[in-house]
Amino acid sequence: MKTALVCGAGGFIGSHLARELVRRGVWVRGVDLKMPEFSPTAAQDFKILDLRDRENCVAALAMPDGSAPDAVFQLAAEMGGMGYIHSAACEIMHDSVLINAHMVRESALRGVKTYFFSSSVCVYRDMKPGEPAMAEDGAYPAAPDNDYGWEKLYSERMAFAHARRYGMKVRVARFQNCYGPEGTWRGGREKAPAALSRKVAEAHDGGTVDIWGDGLAVRNFIYVDDLVDGILHLVGSDLDFAPANIGTEEYVTVRQLLETIAEVAGKKISFRSVDGPVGVASRNFSTARIRSTGWAPRHSLRDGIAKTYPWVAAQVAAAAAAGRG
Ligand code: NAD
Repeated sequence: MKTALVCGAGGFIGSHLARELVRRGVWVRGVDLKMPEFSPTAAQDFKILDLRDRENCVAALAMPDGSAPDAVFQLAAEMGGMGYIHSAACEIMHDSVLINAHMVRESALRGVKTYFFSSSVCVYRDMKPGEPAMAEDGAYPAAPDNDYGWEKLYSERMAFAHARRYGMKVRVARFQNCYGPEGTWRGGREKAPAALSRKVAEAHDGGTVDIWGDGLAVRNFIYVDDLVDGILHLVGSDLDFAPANIGTEEYVTVRQLLETIAEVAGKKISFRSVDGPVGVASRNFSTARIRSTGWAPRHSLRDGIAKTYPWVAAQVAAAAAAGRG
């Protein structure tokens, strides 16, 4: 791979992916509605484009010499934590499906060799705590818990249909919850690790933070560097027509996530349950397929939070100082 287009390169995972591709010697064009918020893009070229528009997808795919990129990484999406997903079903189903429909089709028509699509474990049904690990085929018969999951499942199928028709190499990863520095940490789109890190940073030692629901929902969290490494293992693999879950085997309740963050922060923190969109009761997915590529996560939840919490705490402190100034 000499050239790559990263769609959603102004976002959390896309900006980390662009940085890693450049580090590996790939020439990268990033595309997004916005530049990355927290540090300059690593991409050699960056275009601000709305990818819901077909013409903008065509423009994004035209490399400086007029050729198509060797690989397209499609991570542009309407995206957020549970609060956002439950309040923005129309935007998610309309905007993300337009981005995916145009980008996969224009990529196939222009001879892109490799196409990566970022799906989600939200394609799976709700699970009960203690259920055995579900493999990728368990997404059917389909019963995603939310409309975000339905959009992902449809867009997965659309990508594989283009692989069959046009011979394009398509790789699809279903991400678990991803966290790390430079992710959204406030504003309504933040996910649980960032939201709880912010609340812990704002709380005093011995304080209390609110969590949505009873905190017993079971979740899995993957550190962003491990996820990016998993994407690149999948893209280099021969796993044709086979979506792959990318996550760790470390499942914790939301209460345990909060305890881990409080421990890293060195604070004694209690929680109070409040009403809020909780999402599914439990998760437990097989990672055998992605591990067959030689990939393995390098960060435990504790390791990843130890790198993430200080970054969120610094954002909280900077925002407080700016408010005072
Ligand atoms: P993010 O919101 O940080 O990044 C998505 C980017 O897409 C944003 O920068 C946004 O501006 C851009 N975008 C949205 N609409 C656009 C448009 N019309 N044109 C151009 N760009 C547009 O989200 P993320 O966490 O980096 O997620 C990246 C991908 O991974 C998404 O497809 C998401 O659904 C998927 N995913 C993420 C997680 C997670 O835990 N973060 C979990 C499962 C799946």
